[in-house]
Amino acid sequence: MLNVPPQAFPAPSSQQRAAAGGRAKVPLKPGRSLMDWIRLTKSGKDMTGLKGRLIEVTEDELAKHNKKEDCWICIRGFVYNVTPYMEYHPGGEDELMKAAGTDGTDLFDQVHRWVNYESMLKECLVGRMAVKPIAAPKEITSVCEEKKQLNGMLPEKKVLSGASKDLTPSYDWFQTDSLITIVIYTKQKDMNAELVILDHEDKRLRGEIIVDDYSYLLEVDLDHAVEEDMAVNIAEKVGKVEIILKKKDNVHWKILGQPLESHNTFMKRTDRGTEVVKPYTPVLPFLPLDFKEPSCHDSAHIYLMIKIYSCGLFTQALDHLQIGDCISVSNPEGSFKKSQVQTSEDLFLLAAGTGFTPMVKLLNFALTEVSCLRTVKLIFFNRTEDDILWRNQLEQLALKDQRFEIQFILSQPKKDWVGKQGMISSSLLSEFVKRSRKDSKVLICICGPTPFTEQGVQYLKDLGYSQEEVHPFTA
Ligand code: NAD
Repeated sequence: MLNVPPQAFPAPSSQQRAAAGGRAKVPLKPGRSLMDWIRLTKSGKDMTGLKGRLIEVTEDELAKHNKKEDCWICIRGFVYNVTPYMEYHPGGEDELMKAAGTDGTDLFDQVHRWVNYESMLKECLVGRMAVKPIAAPKEITSVCEEKKQLNGMLPEKKVLSGASKDLTPSYDWFQTDSLITIVIYTKQKDMNAELVILDHEDKRLRGEIIVDDYSYLLEVDLDHAVEEDMAVNIAEKVGKVEIILKKKDNVHWKILGQPLESHNTFMKRTDRGTEVVKPYTPVLPFLPLDFKEPSCHDSAHIYLMIKIYSCGLFTQALDHLQIGDCISVSNPEGSFKKSQVQTSEDLFLLAAGTGFTPMVKLLNFALTEVSCLRTVKLIFFNRTEDDILWRNQLEQLALKDQRFEIQFILSQPKKDWVGKQGMISSSLLSEFVKRSRKDSKVLICICGPTPFTEQGVQYLKDLGYSQEEVHPFTA
């Protein structure tokens, strides 16, 4: 069992930490600190020698890169060119060379288990190990021969007959005083939140991960109770999924829980028969530009703004619905009260991507029905210009109503973008979220990917906004 203290980076067993844990730490040359490494990776230098191209690496190819001046290492199915990292590695070059040209996963697990290597070596990613072709498997038959105790729970991993062990996701977990983190290594590039389906009732946790046509399932009767809200972090490039649960009682868990019937199985999605549920916030068909007319209160229709993800599970199914097909829609959920806006003088809407959807009705309501509002500002974060939803309508709205201002901020702009760029940060928020008067009553609504919303809430708290002044929309 690994007990990771709350601020566990670098982790106790990590070589990024001082050698107090007993491991030798090699003195680094000047200019070779962790910060220097981070700076180098952000410099735009081609770290792999492949000019950003990702390739499939065969075992033979991997084995060729086994020298200090040309060293590739495979970790959990992904191959990194660690040559430029050699001089920055606190454990020394010899330590890294132990895995040169080979699969270093075991070595890595023994020595650096909790180092966030995906992030640290992100720019060194060469590609994925080529998988040997396998016959299309139909049913689960064999039980993985692996018998080692995994954090207090026998793995009991059922793998597809004939399937390469490399293809099957694996998981592990660790805990702090207040959190349980389950880490799933999907071995799938381009993982996204749509491919993770989480369900939790009392102590029963069900987490399904979609990997192409297959489904990996974690199904556990947890050792202790957890809070209802949980978070999911995804390292998209390497396909690592973290499910973070909040302990109800800060007790030490001996095991994650008792495995349920389908726990740790990997099988064809069609054989699993899962129901998928997604929350969406209804929008208006368009933004009203004539404020004398209240919005269309049409109780016969709901309008949804849905982004179709090319590898999305739910949106792909939605996109392929035919006239006559059915979907079930639940009653509305949520805790937002109109009165929060009706008593405000400054309204700030922080939206990222489709996190714009709850802002549509809010914007309409604020500008058409709340006369005490002096300023309404939408700060809209997107990846590229093409991703900005309803840009034209928003710009027209800003021209029409002087109280309304809009600020677009792009995280992956093209070269010709002259506007603001970046991700949500304390400095961006302090620049754009300001009370119009020293004592004005302010409401800040925030919605987007979970990390965006969580970071935003934290930055706003640090900037001195009270809990009542900030409303995060969470699914
Ligand atoms: P996206 O991935 O295109 O990202 C849009 C912007 O969000 C990025 O430009 C960046 O500025 C920010 N962002 C993305 N990942 C971030 C991270 N890890 N940390 C900080 N900022 C980050 O967005 P998308 O594909 O349109 O997805 C929008 C998300 O909003 C979805 O996850 C959706 O579930 C969520 N959403 C939630 C609600 C709700 O809770 N009520 C409503 C609508 C949408």
